Amino acid sequence: MRSEICNHPRIVDAETCLAGCTCGGDHPAPEVTLYSGEDAAQMMAEECRAVYGDRPVLLLFDPETYAVAGADLEQRLLSEKVNLTTHQFDSNPVATAALIDTVRDLDHGMALIISVGSGTINDLGKYSASEDQIDFWCLPTAPSMNGYTSGIAAIKVKGVKRTLPAAPPKRIYARPEVIQNAPLKLRQAGFCDVLAKVVSDIDWQCESLLFSGSYCGLPAAMMTTVEKSYSEHGLEIGRGDESAVMGLFHGLLISGVAMSLAGSSAPASGGEHLVSHFWDMREPLTGREPELHGLQVGVGIILSTACYRRLRELAAEDFPRRGEELFAATAAEIPAIWGPYADEVAKQFQGKRDALIQFNTLLPQKWNELQTLFQQVQSPEYFAELFARTGAPFNLEAFRLTKEEFMLAALNSRAIRERITVLDLAAHAGVLDLAANDALQLLSC
Ligand SMILES: [Zn+2]
Ligand SMILES: [Zn+2]
Repeated sequence: MRSEICNHPRIVDAETCLAGCTCGGDHPAPEVTLYSGEDAAQMMAEECRAVYGDRPVLLLFDPETYAVAGADLEQRLLSEKVNLTTHQFDSNPVATAALIDTVRDLDHGMALIISVGSGTINDLGKYSASEDQIDFWCLPTAPSMNGYTSGIAAIKVKGVKRTLPAAPPKRIYARPEVIQNAPLKLRQAGFCDVLAKVVSDIDWQCESLLFSGSYCGLPAAMMTTVEKSYSEHGLEIGRGDESAVMGLFHGLLISGVAMSLAGSSAPASGGEHLVSHFWDMREPLTGREPELHGLQVGVGIILSTACYRRLRELAAEDFPRRGEELFAATAAEIPAIWGPYADEVAKQFQGKRDALIQFNTLLPQKWNELQTLFQQVQSPEYFAELFARTGAPFNLEAFRLTKEEFMLAALNSRAIRERITVLDLAAHAGVLDLAANDALQLLSC
């Protein structure tokens, strides 16, 4: 039996990691490796047999991912005499605790779980494997989000979406032809998710400057090395050009690695992600089936960049010192917005109450340094135009969001997480309403 040592390159090598660090902290080198090529499924099948021999392997897919890549992989695994069990989820599965139970009932005694798919199927395999200490590999089918390589999985527990720790896959095998031909909407979603880093990194720097000092330049440095291959290529990504779509895919893989290296989702998840979580969490209350993660995040990017632009116009002396009052006003909205989930949300918001009250003194004090950060953010028009360039519509109507639901999220999603983001800065500077209206104009056409 071949050893488990993998010859494929790691997605990011250890030296690159260390070079970009500005915090002096520990960044354990990510282990996940990538094999990319048209023979990736065959390579995966042979290596699966070589590493695991006769030990049982569980293959996960849904009807759509089975059609584009799963059936082919299954045949190859069987030809290599892999001891295979398969499980097909229904179309459009949601990563719920119930489906995790389904997978965990199947994975007893398994040596390996392989997911064929994107966000949800990856999260279901990754989380189950991680909980049951089973190896995990994946064959991605779309460049739709950055979760392939991250150390977290988004699972709905009792109707509330949670971000839970889950070990990233050991190996990823990618077939460019499959990635390239993923549906346009999935490519557009990945494009938005990877570009979120541009704003979330500034959110993190603001928070770090004001409170934690936890910022490290490493994630941003890692992204800078690949950014050019996708950021200016919305049109080509929309057309399905191989180099642009694979550039996007690599950007997403590196973004996930950057999160796991930083030990936090802060580098890739700021205020722009909160609105997406807000709509996911509101599903049981509104009945609106959430749109793809990346697309909702794209809407959040328009809001966040509108906030930064409004903040840029302010001087330190314009800052209203009404921390207590603003906190109380947002907290008062929680019961009506969240119904049965209000207690959980209130607890999160309470977690940053002290920090928000400190805004009264800290923000005017650090205003000049903050301004330097605000200046680095591009305009909402820039991003709206970039996202639309993929050829798919980018507006509230396309994402089945009403103006009311958009405004509700814009003004209140800051309450659902403890993390300080630009939405808190804008709210306490008195410009969140204005920024939300700016974003609404752009998203209504
Ligand atoms: Zn560092
Ligand atoms: Zn994301």
